[in-house]
Amino acid sequence: MRDPMVQLFKLSKCLNVYLDATADRGYGLFAAKPVARGSTLIVDEDGDYYDGVMTLVEALSRGHDLSQDLFQVDHDAFLLPNGNIDDFINHSCRPNTGLRLTPLGYRMVALADIAAGDELTYDYSTYIGDTPERLVCACGAADCRGVIGPFRDLPRERRLYYLANDVVGRFAVPEADRRALAAATGAADKAGAPA
Ligand SMILES: [Zn+2]
Repeated sequence: MRDPMVQLFKLSKCLNVYLDATADRGYGLFAAKPVARGSTLIVDEDGDYYDGVMTLVEALSRGHDLSQDLFQVDHDAFLLPNGNIDDFINHSCRPNTGLRLTPLGYRMVALADIAAGDELTYDYSTYIGDTPERLVCACGAADCRGVIGPFRDLPRERRLYYLANDVVGRFAVPEADRRALAAATGAADKAGAPA
């Protein structure tokens, strides 16, 4: 039995969201109340998020399917669905949230103003690094890419948008994007510095 305070803390992560059936994609996660762009919807940092992390070789040797079962959290570190609510978030090529991994877990951040009852989505490609993972996409977005693949294959403007919002797995970021982001951040720092 877990510490009741830990259980209570876990429940507090669900104040802004609820699980429900979607029309055509099984269960999904939905907003329980209006959320402003830039707000944090979920903070899961109670420390057990990375429990059970495994290498790709370990995962495949245990019969897990890369595209169906595994969530990449580092260069060669993958998580299985573990019962946390992020297991239920569906993909969109035009998502209204992003995930931000932190040393203790993750945060779900609103990328748009969200109304109560809206389904919450993120772009799975933001957590696909250098692996053969590919999924067919039929998310319904006007600019649906048709395939969910590595972050590096996204259009550059889309990559920089996600990077600017800090909702990309660090392991997935191409070197050229790192430099572009560092240059942009450096320029902003200089612009903001006192004369
Ligand atoms: Zn799509």
